[in-house]
Amino acid sequence: MEKNKNNKSLLLHVCCAPCSVMCVQSLKDEGFDLTAFFFNPNIHPFSEYKKRMETLRAFCAAENIKLIAPLKDGLFGVLFSPQDQDEFLSGKTLNERRDSSYSPPDGNGVPDSLSQNKNVFLSGKTLNRFAAEGYGLYNFLSAAAGRPYPARCAVCYETRLDETARFAKENGYGGFSTTLFISPYQNHGLLKTTAETAAERYQTALLYRDFRALFREGQSRAKAAEMYMQKYCGCIFSEYENAKK
Ligand code: SF4
Repeated sequence: MEKNKNNKSLLLHVCCAPCSVMCVQSLKDEGFDLTAFFFNPNIHPFSEYKKRMETLRAFCAAENIKLIAPLKDGLFGVLFSPQDQDEFLSGKTLNERRDSSYSPPDGNGVPDSLSQNKNVFLSGKTLNRFAAEGYGLYNFLSAAAGRPYPARCAVCYETRLDETARFAKENGYGGFSTTLFISPYQNHGLLKTTAETAAERYQTALLYRDFRALFREGQSRAKAAEMYMQKYCGCIFSEYENAKK
């Protein structure tokens, strides 16, 4: 990222809202123009995935940050756009109005705006359907199953950061980073190496920051804001391992 000093647009892979609190604060303080990228097929089950996605959407609305997520295989949509902040926060009928304007003309279930990677604003059943189609559960499970820690996490990091790097490159961002860098529970060294490899593979820039000193502060701010805070890392294996403690 240091290479791209003139391009301050940063695609920030976000694992969850609580981990993003201090990362966003810190990166905004550095002057970056942030877009949150929720790409986490590791999160199990789907109800948990949706809960984390919705919590992040509310956080992005409060922070006025664009939020992008996979909404159908290979296609991404904007779940929150800064231009909609007032309407979103005031709870007006934006969602319903937008939903009805995206009825697919060809009947294949993909709104034109989504297939062109433009702004979409989905809610309720429509969001549920598109989020489910973009979830990526089968690919993640078939790649991670049978691999014990830490090999499983290596696949998990690579899956998420490769897609982030690819999207950053293809959409003209100055670079990418991840909120995973804040967690003292992640394998930080492996995470950093994986992110560097992804940057190299997709010829984009990694903004590396060791946010770990900010973790406790972020967690207590998230708690004070009554944010939903999950009890396990994300995958079904981590949920099981947490239950055994
Ligand atoms: S424990 Fe966390 S990082 Fe490791 S595979 Fe599961 S979700 Fe991914």
